[in-house]
Amino acid sequence: MRFMPSPHYNERPNDMSIDMIVLHAISLPAGEFDMKYVEQLFLGSLDMAAHPCFHDLQGVQVSAHFVVDRQGDVTQFVACDKRAWHAGSSSWQGRENCNDYAMGIEMIGDELRPFTAKQYKETARLCRALMLRYPDITIERMVGHQDIAPMRKWDPGKQWDWQHFHRSLAHIRNLTSSPT
Ligand SMILES: [Zn+2]
Repeated sequence: MRFMPSPHYNERPNDMSIDMIVLHAISLPAGEFDMKYVEQLFLGSLDMAAHPCFHDLQGVQVSAHFVVDRQGDVTQFVACDKRAWHAGSSSWQGRENCNDYAMGIEMIGDELRPFTAKQYKETARLCRALMLRYPDITIERMVGHQDIAPMRKWDPGKQWDWQHFHRSLAHIRNLTSSPT
């Protein structure tokens, strides 16, 4: 697993238990699955001149803890115990500000094409590793960005097959690498 430290994080509130995973989908520009620009965005070094649609991202400071690309390769951007800025204004079961207590995982994808088999497998493997480290994370507490910010966000969207993901989770054995 690569670690590319993002500046877009801060401390979680004191004594905050990490008990949720938020899954996201992203592509930059929309529909292009190369990770280069997502990486730049999270590192705060996006070249705004590279594409007209990047204009809207001027000054945007976001990051997830992890990104899973189309090949299933995982890059970590923020240490697990820090608060990454992925969910924005959000709430789940009456608790606001999901960034305080959630892990954020971005998957490279869009609303039009299915996620890859390797993405299901490696996202599930990553979630299993996080469950081991943070026992309060349960399968019921793995949600989509669209579930915690339904008026604003669509991701990971209708291409993400939760049943497939849950089956993948059930089949994970022999965790090899653990996140930072
Ligand atoms: Zn999202």
